[in-house]
Amino acid sequence: MSTSGFTFKDRCVSVLCCRFCQQVLSSRGMKAVLLANTEIDLYSTDIPPTNTVDFIGSCYFTDICKCKLKNIACLKCGNVVGYHVIAPCKPCLLSCNNGHFWMFHSQAVFGINRLDSSGVNLLLWGNLPDLDESTDEDLSGISEEEYIR
Ligand SMILES: [Zn+2]
Ligand SMILES: [Zn+2]
Repeated sequence: MSTSGFTFKDRCVSVLCCRFCQQVLSSRGMKAVLLANTEIDLYSTDIPPTNTVDFIGSCYFTDICKCKLKNIACLKCGNVVGYHVIAPCKPCLLSCNNGHFWMFHSQAVFGINRLDSSGVNLLLWGNLPDLDESTDEDLSGISEEEYIR
């Protein structure tokens, strides 16, 4: 980590669900802080959620930086839920080096904190296996009170 004070290992892992149809989009969500615009809430994930979302439209760039982006839509309901960073610009690559290039808008998804195997403590990124996309068993451990708004 080159950025001072920023560590994602002690952040909660969230299950991300589509607000429009309640479909689970990713079981490895992280609440992201956009460095360029801290007023926008986003969730991010590191593993391509290709079973649940698909690309929609064409590539575009934002006003704030040179990242090449493409919107992603929920496969179940078709609503745009976020975007994928196809080609990060250099400042972003240097500042957000946690490998999370799939972003979800907080207006389109909600996150539910995951619990660890004890069912008591929140699951943190530092405790998460590198590859873990078996959502079936994980979802039983979700506590309903843990909605992030
Ligand atoms: Zn950028
Ligand atoms: Zn949906």
